Amino acid sequence: MEFRAKKKCINPSCGIEYSIDNDIYRCSCGFLLDIKYPDVPNRDLIEIFYQRRNFGGNIFNESGVWRYRELLNFIDVDTESLQECSKFLVSLDGSEGRSSRPYQMSKVAKYVDLPNDNLLLQPEGYNPSGSFKDNGMAAAVTHAKLLKVKKIVCASTGNTSASAAMYASNEGFECDVYIPRGEIAPGKLGQAFQFGAQVLQVDGNFDDALTLSLELASKEGGYTVNSLNPFRIEGQKTIIFRIMEHLNWNPPDWIVYPGGALGNISSCGKALMELYEWGWIKKIPRVLVVNAVGANTFYQLVNGLFEDTALKWNEGRVNTDLIDRFYLNQQENNIVPKTQATAIQIGKPANIIKALRTIEFTNGIVEQVQDIDMMDGMAIVGLNGFDCEMASGSVPAGIMKLREKELIKKDEIVVGVLTGRQKDPSIAIQYHLSKSNKYSRPPRELVN
Ligand SMILES: *Cc1c(COP(=O)(O)O)cnc(C)c1O
Ligand SMILES: [Zn+2]
Repeated sequence: MEFRAKKKCINPSCGIEYSIDNDIYRCSCGFLLDIKYPDVPNRDLIEIFYQRRNFGGNIFNESGVWRYRELLNFIDVDTESLQECSKFLVSLDGSEGRSSRPYQMSKVAKYVDLPNDNLLLQPEGYNPSGSFKDNGMAAAVTHAKLLKVKKIVCASTGNTSASAAMYASNEGFECDVYIPRGEIAPGKLGQAFQFGAQVLQVDGNFDDALTLSLELASKEGGYTVNSLNPFRIEGQKTIIFRIMEHLNWNPPDWIVYPGGALGNISSCGKALMELYEWGWIKKIPRVLVVNAVGANTFYQLVNGLFEDTALKWNEGRVNTDLIDRFYLNQQENNIVPKTQATAIQIGKPANIIKALRTIEFTNGIVEQVQDIDMMDGMAIVGLNGFDCEMASGSVPAGIMKLREKELIKKDEIVVGVLTGRQKDPSIAIQYHLSKSNKYSRPPRELVN
């Protein structure tokens, strides 16, 4: 089968193209790959996407990922044929992306001092496995199924493995998940076991687990579904499509994400670049990426805090030596990523170069927040009746910081992505047991 979509090196001075009939995800020059499509989609699709929300019995219209299937049709399915979609597209019965769209949250708006109408948050935790990872995983596992692989493999801080294991069990694949021992939320580890994955515990952090999983996957065979995989990035573009659809395709002023391995931010950038190139949007929102202070590689490098040199996309001529020296320096000084928000406890973000491209294209900003700020953010989201995990709490916290610096103005429209649902209730409980926390509500002790 000859596919029209290609994988293409993101380095403009290289640009080598690869067929999609294999699982190569890195160019021979070292850069990652993008999926490139031959045609510009017709803007009339906007009406079709809208109509599909009355999905009838079609799970590919119900799915918030596959509803936009023309925009990630890498295997050239006949998008109107339910039979053909069922044969090729992987979906957990239409549930990925189904319940996540922007919502107003008045208490968060008040917390960041924005009018209620100007702040929207999209709870990606309301995906079947409880995080935004399902958007990308549906697409990556679709590709894995096309290649007829037996086993999918990932390293994970917890949510990638939960999502991979969920789709693997549903599709009949084996699944190996490499996790840093003791550094993942119990709810996430429980899911990996529950969905029948083989858990491999690594003595070390996420970065070590990723290195090991890539090594073993290439040695023993296994299809990698980490965000290095460009099909993950394709599926996660639909987070942006749902935001845009909600806003009638009028882009907001800001889009805000937590930054871990930086796959999500890369996919946000790719979606915006494509929409802009096709003429579907006229304005480019600014992107804010929020790091934890204890895992702030991207923050330090982009803002020139290492060797006084700001790391830039620079039309693909990225100062990769600077990145290498940064990692060497971390290693020599025994600096390991440390934050209670384990989902973003990552020292070597695999998508750093793609993420630089996003920052450049969107005139973006990288900020950092303390653990306690993330917990406050998580608590405020809870006061609106929505549930998110600590890493997602970085979104309100980051917006707050930019409001204080007056970089985000009161009349601007801000959309934040709440990446995952609470899977470590002990963090919420501990927060509320302590009277000294800003938004805690300690229990009343009754004695008789
Ligand atoms: C994976 C994850 C992140 C980080 O996303 P990246 O794409 O790795 O930057 C943030 N929050 C949650 C809840 C996650 O599961
Ligand atoms: Zn290349």
